[in-house]
Amino acid sequence: MRKNIVAGNWKMNLLPEEGVDLVKSIIELDRPNDVVSIVCPSFTHLHAIREVLNDQSQIHLGAQDCSTHDSGAYTGQISAPMLKSLGAEYVILGHSERRAYQGESDELIREKTINALHHDLQVIYCCGETEDIRIAGNYIEHVLSQIKKAIFNLEETQIQRITIAYEPVWAIGTGKVATPDQAQEMHAAIRKSVANHYGEKIANSMSILYGGSCKPSNAKEIFSNPDVDGGLIGGAALKPADFVALHHSF
Ligand code: PEP
Repeated sequence: MRKNIVAGNWKMNLLPEEGVDLVKSIIELDRPNDVVSIVCPSFTHLHAIREVLNDQSQIHLGAQDCSTHDSGAYTGQISAPMLKSLGAEYVILGHSERRAYQGESDELIREKTINALHHDLQVIYCCGETEDIRIAGNYIEHVLSQIKKAIFNLEETQIQRITIAYEPVWAIGTGKVATPDQAQEMHAAIRKSVANHYGEKIANSMSILYGGSCKPSNAKEIFSNPDVDGGLIGGAALKPADFVALHHSF
């Protein structure tokens, strides 16, 4: 049985103390036990947030990026061992904002993924097409090619520690959300491609998340698709009631 997951990508929002308050508010609200909760704040917040989490809070901690290197002359970068030592369990890699603003390539994302897995982080690997590609009609080929280049080199034991987040770029932070059919079409294609490469068993146990303007008012329809196992959530993850409501949307 694969897991249902709601992961919050806080992006570059909130001060550390505000992040702590947000997590405390999430902890106070009732969440179903069978949905995995992950929060991914800025690097600067990880320590303070780790301090307020315990076994009862049932919230996992993630970061939003990591370096391909473990240490060295890489000013401003943060390594996977650093994230691990701060208590992060997950890392988001390949987010479209990093692809667009930091020029990250599939090859770089592949290297980051290998390094993060090597240091025992679980990876939320993001992929998705721009609006132009969607209109041109080759969106499935595009996304499958991103996935193939970045993660299909992994070994079987490694791929099982990947969660794929399909995030159409045209839906991120825009208020435009993929229709349930658009999400299902892509998620099914991704799962089939994973099955062709790694076998049905691994494909069926992989959680594939949808991301892009997902909120309580549209999540139920999207999450009810057979190949959608939850969401990577931006804006709505900053509002405790909305973030928790998403856990009740399966
Ligand atoms: C994201 O950036 O991962 C995201 C899904 O953002 P939003 O929910 O705000 O569209």
